Amino acid sequence: MLGTPHLLAGAAIGKVLRRPWLAWPAAFLSHFLLDYAPHLDSHALFGRPTGVTGPEAAMGIIDGVVGIGLVLWLARGQPARRVMLGAATFAIVMDVLDNALPWGAWFRVWPRTAWLSAFHHGFQHNLAPAHWPLGVVTQMTVVALALWVCLRGRATPAEHPGRRPSREEPQP
Ligand SMILES: [Zn+2]
Repeated sequence: MLGTPHLLAGAAIGKVLRRPWLAWPAAFLSHFLLDYAPHLDSHALFGRPTGVTGPEAAMGIIDGVVGIGLVLWLARGQPARRVMLGAATFAIVMDVLDNALPWGAWFRVWPRTAWLSAFHHGFQHNLAPAHWPLGVVTQMTVVALALWVCLRGRATPAEHPGRRPSREEPQP
């Protein structure tokens, strides 16, 4: 699955579970669950057996920037901000370890981590580009659900003017 749904799902888990000791392991496990859902990723679209292609790398960078940007925006001003940011990190860390250059190749072969990489790749349900509608819909659904959870009940300063400490306001 792309990075953006993983990151947003992690933030949503952080917001719902609130406690780091609960949210962060749950976010880590969510990575495998989401990779099990049928999805289309950049490797299926642009990848080659010989290695990472330019379009694949470009899509990965755009995906990362969009996902991280959305998480930072969603977590802004939330009471569970720290847990949300941590959970988003735990939700994506598997792909960062396993797929990012230059340590991805090493992570896949080092005996202490190779089993985890094999487990991660064994969970993937990658679709061929011909089945893109399903591969896109599953990821859009994850993004939409996560956005809904993260935005639900989010207080804006305009709605809650009393959130700022009164000492910062000018005294009459
Ligand atoms: Zn993954």
